[in-house]
Amino acid sequence: MPGDHHVRKAYITSDKCIKCNLCIPTCPTDAIPKSLEIISNLCIGCGNCEAVCPPAVSAITYEHNSKELAKILPQCTAAGAESIELHAGVPDDNTTINEWRIVSECMPNGMISMCLDRYHLSNVHLIERIRLAKGIAGDRLIIQADGIPMSGGTDDFNTTLQAIGIADIINKELKVKDRWYGKLPILISGGTNSNTGNLARQCGVKFSGITIGTHARSIIKPYMGRIDYFKNTPVLKEAIGKANRLISRNITDTKL
Ligand code: SF4
Ligand code: SF4
Repeated sequence: MPGDHHVRKAYITSDKCIKCNLCIPTCPTDAIPKSLEIISNLCIGCGNCEAVCPPAVSAITYEHNSKELAKILPQCTAAGAESIELHAGVPDDNTTINEWRIVSECMPNGMISMCLDRYHLSNVHLIERIRLAKGIAGDRLIIQADGIPMSGGTDDFNTTLQAIGIADIINKELKVKDRWYGKLPILISGGTNSNTGNLARQCGVKFSGITIGTHARSIIKPYMGRIDYFKNTPVLKEAIGKANRLISRNITDTKL
């Protein structure tokens, strides 16, 4: 959906850019070369470059690569997709719920996940939207508690705090108060790292799973940059070992 970080590409407006180069080192995918022409295929829309671009300049803009769900989702399910996640980080309920209905109809027997953050939604609005989503998806609903989308580059407690906070709100305001939501699966996402599971357990925040994107990409990036990555078995095994350690740290209870 428009507004989703995952379907946007950053562009630098050259007549605004003052060539300070601040954005280059912030890009997690090396999509900004010295020429300052963003390599679109590498851009994952994370927004890091925009965050450091001087406000008086604001040279970074985005183009959204949104697709019509009704056209693209049947192709996905025909190709074997078993679950679908809709990033619903937009303020307007009608738009979101219309898209959600399409997702639900395209995946009548599979799990469907709505990914929500609090950028546009108050706690009350967030809970209301989950109720609307559940009314359509029933027991097929998964909620992704998206702290700050695509913010998990740093492996510390503060980075993962908001993701756990949003899961906490859903637990307290919905799962504990309304039995119909007691089994609603919550995946913690958006600002997740190797500390997420541990911090959530220490804070007494229940969750069904953790999805890790930006941080996982950052620890695997040095391996994936190698041209022999898929052919060099020791290198591949080392990368898989790092990924496995990331998972075990999240599912193993350790003291803070
Ligand atoms: S910092 Fe993020 S948004 Fe900017 S070019 Fe790199 S990947 Fe794209
Ligand atoms: S941070 Fe902004 S002004 Fe500086 S080089 Fe990047 S796009 Fe240009």
